[in-house]
Amino acid sequence: MIVFVTGPMFSSKSKRIEEYYDAASYNSKDNILVFKPEKDTRDQSFVIPRSGKKIKAILINNLLQIKDYITDKTTDIFIDEINFFENLPENKKLLTSKFFLEREKRINKIILLFEYLNYQKGINIFLAGLDFNSERKPFGIAPFLISIATSTDKLNARCTKCNAAATHTNYKGIKDVEVIVGSDEYEALCPKHWFEAQETKDKDFINNIIKG
Ligand SMILES: [Zn+2]
Repeated sequence: MIVFVTGPMFSSKSKRIEEYYDAASYNSKDNILVFKPEKDTRDQSFVIPRSGKKIKAILINNLLQIKDYITDKTTDIFIDEINFFENLPENKKLLTSKFFLEREKRINKIILLFEYLNYQKGINIFLAGLDFNSERKPFGIAPFLISIATSTDKLNARCTKCNAAATHTNYKGIKDVEVIVGSDEYEALCPKHWFEAQETKDKDFINNIIKG
């Protein structure tokens, strides 16, 4: 199976994927691989809820690198913070048509690699990460993962304003790059409060959406 655990920040995605790890490694963890993006500098390990034990993850900067670690014995692969891969470059000068073409090719390869590993090699794949960034732009490879996943666990957080189900991430300030690592600057909001927050940053936000 290919499982994608997704939702906004603070929706306990890591906890859910760690529960899958806990179940998969019940008898043995010898044939399980855990990957995390090199870019995520917050925590380079994987915490197992049942034991509190930390599992060191293999750090990668490109999803195609997972091939180098897979052996005939590999049964399960876990990748957390998948939203850190295949994003737009921070330097806007690099946003060229060549960049987009190459990115599309890489994403196609990654999707086919996941499907090959699962359907041909029988390896279970568990992935976790954000579906949207705080501006509601689909994050890198996330929409493709939703398409190929055997199942998607879409989790909610709680809105910091009203405690309703929070489906949106809000950046509290004004952002000038797509990815800002950290959690203090972000909050989870319900859709109503997320729209209100965008209007405080840009009073024409909703008008611009409606008028196109
Ligand atoms: Zn709310």
